[in-house]
Amino acid sequence: MLEIKNLYCGYGSKDVIREINLTVESGEILCVLGPNGSGKSTLFKAIGRLIEFRGSVRVDGRETAEFSRKELAKKIGLLGQHSPLYFPYTVYDTVAMGRYAYSRGPFSPLSPECRDIIEETLAVLELDGERGALAGEVSGGCLQRVFLARVLVQDPKIILLDEPTNHLDLKHQIRLLEHLKNWAAKVPGRAVIAVLHDLNLARAFARRAVLLSNGRLAACGQAEEVFADLADVYGMDVGRFMLESLENWKTGPSV
Ligand code: ADP
Ligand code: MG
Repeated sequence: MLEIKNLYCGYGSKDVIREINLTVESGEILCVLGPNGSGKSTLFKAIGRLIEFRGSVRVDGRETAEFSRKELAKKIGLLGQHSPLYFPYTVYDTVAMGRYAYSRGPFSPLSPECRDIIEETLAVLELDGERGALAGEVSGGCLQRVFLARVLVQDPKIILLDEPTNHLDLKHQIRLLEHLKNWAAKVPGRAVIAVLHDLNLARAFARRAVLLSNGRLAACGQAEEVFADLADVYGMDVGRFMLESLENWKTGPSV
């Protein structure tokens, strides 16, 4: 359902992402791995058409370049790494903005269907109690759920999450990923692509993974195969470190 061919993009005249070929199937949760600066966020910006790119990005067989902004919003939802807050909106209004692709104009009232979707999402993400609070005044973890809710009410086919679990405590991280897994499985034609900083969580949630290194795909395939390649790109034996860390839960720190 998402097909990327020979993608190049970057900032100014410099390509950060080079020669990316990738397909994502319906129902899939794909994890994007790679060290800081390897181009994960830049790749997402190109898929979400926030920056120019060369090459082909197709969703359901059509080039994203051909979509209007509203059509694109119904296909791709992006939860960026740094979501800015410009105005003092409430939590409810911030989430409701995710429905703009379905509204007739910026000031037209929300349809009953929109209101239902917003209510359902607020409940799932435990934001009910915060609906009247100013988005700029809630905790970092709560704000992250507000932004996620905004993407979910957008009802896209593909959700791109750039380090969505930043600012979240462990319980909420796991809940969020479980929710996304169910979201992708619930209706055919959905997929999630996520940059997950926590490799343990990535290992637990993704069946397929890609590994970026200096803007290129260094590995792509079943998660277990890709995780085996982490050592070269991260410059350390990640798997061994993880297993040793687990031992610390039994025996206490070794250093
Ligand atoms: P990652 O998300 O994997 O940490 P990024 O995609 O953010 O990596 O960055 C990849 C490269 O692009 C880095 O070298 C970074 O300095 C550069 N870069 C990121 N954003 C910008 C920008 N807005 N302008 C210029 N260069 C950028
Ligand atoms: Mg990034």
